[in-house]
Amino acid sequence: MASNNPVLNKIEELKPTFIKRLSDAIAIPAVSGDESLRPKVVEKAHFLAKQLKDLGFHDIQLKDLGVQPPPVSDSNLKLPPVILSRYGNNDSKNKKKTILIYGHYDVQPALKEDGWDTEPFTFYLDEEKQIMRGRGVTDDTGPLLGWLNVVQAYREAGKELPVNLITCFEGMEESGSIGLDKLIIEEADKYFKDVDTVCISDNYWLGTKKPVLTYGLRGCNYYQITIKGPKADLHSGVFGGCVAEPMIDLVHVLQSLVKPNGEIQIAGIKEMVAPVTETENQIYEKIDFSVEELNQAIGSKTSLYDNKRDILMHRWRYPSLSIHGVEGAFYGPGAKTVIPGQVIGKFSIRTVPDIDSKKLDQLVIDHCNKVFAELKSPNTFKTELVHDGNYWITDPFNKSFTAAARATKDIYGVEPDLTREGGSIPITLTFEKALKTNVLLLPMGRGDDAAHSINEKLDVSNYINGMKIMANYLLYYSED
Ligand SMILES: [Zn+2]
Repeated sequence: MASNNPVLNKIEELKPTFIKRLSDAIAIPAVSGDESLRPKVVEKAHFLAKQLKDLGFHDIQLKDLGVQPPPVSDSNLKLPPVILSRYGNNDSKNKKKTILIYGHYDVQPALKEDGWDTEPFTFYLDEEKQIMRGRGVTDDTGPLLGWLNVVQAYREAGKELPVNLITCFEGMEESGSIGLDKLIIEEADKYFKDVDTVCISDNYWLGTKKPVLTYGLRGCNYYQITIKGPKADLHSGVFGGCVAEPMIDLVHVLQSLVKPNGEIQIAGIKEMVAPVTETENQIYEKIDFSVEELNQAIGSKTSLYDNKRDILMHRWRYPSLSIHGVEGAFYGPGAKTVIPGQVIGKFSIRTVPDIDSKKLDQLVIDHCNKVFAELKSPNTFKTELVHDGNYWITDPFNKSFTAAARATKDIYGVEPDLTREGGSIPITLTFEKALKTNVLLLPMGRGDDAAHSINEKLDVSNYINGMKIMANYLLYYSED
């Protein structure tokens, strides 16, 4: 092993303590999406604040984010607090770097009846397989506690932490991170003033064997097309043939957006996509992934591509257009002869560098207007943006990534794969912009951890090795 950081042995030694801490945390059903469980989310915040205090963190603040905006059934429902705290100080003698650690302590809903093998909020350790199960073990309570555990290991090994830490732990991540953007922007020059870099441990390995570091996320622009015709739904036996049907118009417009092979048909988008570089080609070459893994994940053999490179590039670095549904259309079983009077078609585009979001909106709207005009329909037509979130990309060879790659290699003996993700973690971009620093996504769990699903798990080895990586990452990042 390349590193002889004594903290690593201490982590091994403290394994039972760390498993117990995770077990205690999992017992609190901090489901942010369930209003009736809001007191539990707050209870978990206090539980963590106590842990932080016991471990020597200071300036612990439970930041009040006010009441939750509608839609809520309790109009006075308070948002759970964001936990800010510090470890170490930056005075004139102490020139350590400062890393902001982001994590979330809320979890997705879970009920035994959903199909769990054990109670989701009762921690379960499969001794034989060395797998821990429970809602939140991998998303994101386990990784969040990982940082606390690492601080404990440093302390008990008698080693000074090589960097200063600032925590930003939120309790609304699974419910849209309401209020967090504002807080980050407000605290950028205050609590977060000295932050040199941000580390987020809230995503996963691509597969189950090879560790990864993540350097990019796609954005998402979501659109809807509203077509209005008859004042109310009509019967096709009575009016079919003599009225312009909104649904027919919509199908024509939707089919013009994308080909069945995934190719987006809207002019001007392709031109905005950054060309593939040689470095990038090399990154994809090395990634451990196969078509079979995709088939397994989607439960079918319906991939558009037959090789690793095309699959991953189309998931991560090219835009994609998906058609999600039609509001107002008949969708139930049977053969209802309705002519919907108004329909709303929904679709979104996953965005990548260097797509300009505003320009994209214009291209989409112009395209839809043009296609609709060609239909010469008397119906009214409108395409609009519902919401957007930008993509994120960073240099996977910057100081923070280099430190994390070295730390990963120490523990797993291999260079981590450099991955991107097809979805988004909007807060990543907020940190980067507001704090004017870069962000590292350092996952702890595996691709099959079932984060939002039943039987969420985290392998004990990922928990322990993940902490060892964190410990060495702090060390390597502190070095100049
Ligand atoms: Zn998460």
